[in-house]
Amino acid sequence: MSPAVYPSPIMTGQGEWAEAFRKAREVVGRMTLEEKVSLTAGVSSNTSCPGFLPGIPRLGFPGMCLADAGQGLRGTDFVSTWPSGIHVGASWNKALARQRGAGMAGEFKTKGVNVLLGPAIGPAGRVVLGGRNWEGFSSDPYLSGALVYETVTAIQAAGVITSTKHYIANEQETHRNPSGEIQSVSSNVDDRTMHEFYLWPFQDAVHAGTGNIMCSYQRLNNSYGCANSKSLNGLLKNELGFQGWVVSDWGALHAGAAAALAGLDVAMPSGAGLWGSHLVDAVNNGSLPESRMDDMVIRTLASWYKVGQDQDFPQPGVGMAADLTRPHPIVNGRNSSFRSTLLDGAIEGHVLVKNERNALPLKTPRLLSLFGYSAKNPDRNNPTAGLSPWLWGSESSNFSEFTDVFYGFSPNNWSPNRTAVAINGTIYSGGGSGATSQSTVLSPFDVLLHQAADDGTALFWDFVSAAPAVHPMSDACIVFGNAFAAEGADRPALSDEYTDALIRHVADRCGSTVVVLHNAGVRLVEGFVEHPNVTAVIFAHLPGEMSGRATVEVLYGRVSPSGKLPYTVARNASDYAVLGPDRVEEQEGRFRRFPQSDFDEGVFLDYRHFDKEGIEPRYEFGFGLSYAEFGYANLVVSKAADGRFDEYPVGEVAQGGQEDLWDVLVEVAADVTNTGGVDGAEVAQLYVGIPAQGAPVRQLRGFEKPFLNASATATVRFGLTRRDLSVWDVVAQKWRLVRGEYTVEVGGSSRNLPLVGKVTI
Ligand code: BGC
Repeated sequence: MSPAVYPSPIMTGQGEWAEAFRKAREVVGRMTLEEKVSLTAGVSSNTSCPGFLPGIPRLGFPGMCLADAGQGLRGTDFVSTWPSGIHVGASWNKALARQRGAGMAGEFKTKGVNVLLGPAIGPAGRVVLGGRNWEGFSSDPYLSGALVYETVTAIQAAGVITSTKHYIANEQETHRNPSGEIQSVSSNVDDRTMHEFYLWPFQDAVHAGTGNIMCSYQRLNNSYGCANSKSLNGLLKNELGFQGWVVSDWGALHAGAAAALAGLDVAMPSGAGLWGSHLVDAVNNGSLPESRMDDMVIRTLASWYKVGQDQDFPQPGVGMAADLTRPHPIVNGRNSSFRSTLLDGAIEGHVLVKNERNALPLKTPRLLSLFGYSAKNPDRNNPTAGLSPWLWGSESSNFSEFTDVFYGFSPNNWSPNRTAVAINGTIYSGGGSGATSQSTVLSPFDVLLHQAADDGTALFWDFVSAAPAVHPMSDACIVFGNAFAAEGADRPALSDEYTDALIRHVADRCGSTVVVLHNAGVRLVEGFVEHPNVTAVIFAHLPGEMSGRATVEVLYGRVSPSGKLPYTVARNASDYAVLGPDRVEEQEGRFRRFPQSDFDEGVFLDYRHFDKEGIEPRYEFGFGLSYAEFGYANLVVSKAADGRFDEYPVGEVAQGGQEDLWDVLVEVAADVTNTGGVDGAEVAQLYVGIPAQGAPVRQLRGFEKPFLNASATATVRFGLTRRDLSVWDVVAQKWRLVRGEYTVEVGGSSRNLPLVGKVTI
């Protein structure tokens, strides 16, 4: 059970929020109770904004449009198709994450979207089959935290409020919402795991100043996520000093005044018959203090002032036509100066995990053969052509429920029958509310065709057959497969036999078979990876509209691949700490109506679990090959001269928690040299072993991605903060710096760490 934390903290506006709060307080002071209440729940609008807060014209407040999602603006026209969260995670590039954030935000703003419903950092990847893991960056909280920090900062700097979601411990799609007699699943998380794992990236988002947080569907320690006073009042608003507003996930409101008292500020898409006039009554009869009602509205308006939407913002929803099939004014969100960001973003999320016999880069093949249902864009006139039964038959019934039908996959795909389009055809995002709008998506085949034409390469292809004929004189064969996932359902498996058999079939007949998988989550490769003719394997993730161009840049070696896995690829599905969701069928007695999910593994997820149990992964967390090679040398680990090494932080709570949690206490430097013959970027990673009981062997605590010309050396520098070096002390309810010898390792993956140093605190 979550302990109760009341009252809800009334925010007064600190630091750079002070002026925004002053303005918000002033205008809220002129509102009637009914006007205040009107700003606590969504209304329907004549736009396609999934959420809309009404305006109060007499006070000059025009309302707010809230729209999905973390990989670009969904379900509209004249926007770009950005790389998805997992792709950004695989790129390990902070500067690129920032550029992408700025580019996406520009589009949201031009279209009149005040609140971007993203980025997603929950689910955190606990359940490896989770249907929404691809919306987040990584199954490592530090990597997610670093990338969400950049993303939130960039989006808000461009004038759009981020709704960082889904808060918190929202790890499975199965039973995410109540159904009939069955309540949502309860994520049962202990205090230390909560802080060191699930809350960690949200702390970074709050530190970056996220104006909004979306509370999640499931229950947390048996209270609904949007009425849990411990997580909302306690962790978020007290401990992290969150100054913004909390919005419910869509339909996640299950209580009246109680939810407001627990810390929920706005209900979406409406008050669901629980708020609205009932909150007016609740204030009038004293069950909801008016000070709490004021705080709800002040927080909301403060974020609007904070990002400058009072000064410079289009009419809310102006570019979000309710019905794209009817004539509507064109609002072009795209900005051509971000085309290179779209391409770089698509390239850098490609992770090369196998490359033998110099298979890649391709060297102007005389004959190139292409296979796989995922090479080209779906055939819109005949969406089921060539579909193999597994793709939409019994083995994957989950898929047919959620793709286009669920939210419309793209404006070009209205037909409700196109249930498998995202699978039969190349994929560039997952499905559900995070699905990207499609504009000019370049499939791998589109670009390979041009490349072959330019080079005089003969092309042979068959994208339909399960056991295609293979031209015996092929210099190389490429098989394109995918692993789809969508909101609303967890995935049935981490690999599929249809694709694996297709790859083996081609490899049996083609001496150099290159496998390219677009994967919305972990994809196992045991079904083919040891085949002697499978010479190269690329995880291409979900690259957005530049998909094909990026793949071809990598395949032909115009750029060295530089992505690294943001998760572990196991040899067996059963190697993971938690593979699938908890299901009601597995529950006993009364839990059949109140399903429970006990997070007993604590923080030992992904590589923390493999390290602890001594399990050999197929490809470890942080792994990825380049066409270049990198060497590491000259590790220097030193305590910061002006560092304060007391056990506990003493600072005031500012946004993100006690201020001195961010003080750098240990400085680390190392040299990275490109020892290969070609230019390329390398993700240098730093892992720390904390000398505390119950701490993982190592945890990611820094990464930098220098671009190095052939033979060049760069010195990478990392600053380890008090938070990076601390464990959560459940008794003191503070982060505690441990006394003892810490291990600091630097290298190219979580299991290739040639530099090892020590520092004693
Ligand atoms: C999803 C959210 C999304 C919202 C609005 C919900 O079903 O869980 O991620 O932002 O819908 O579309």
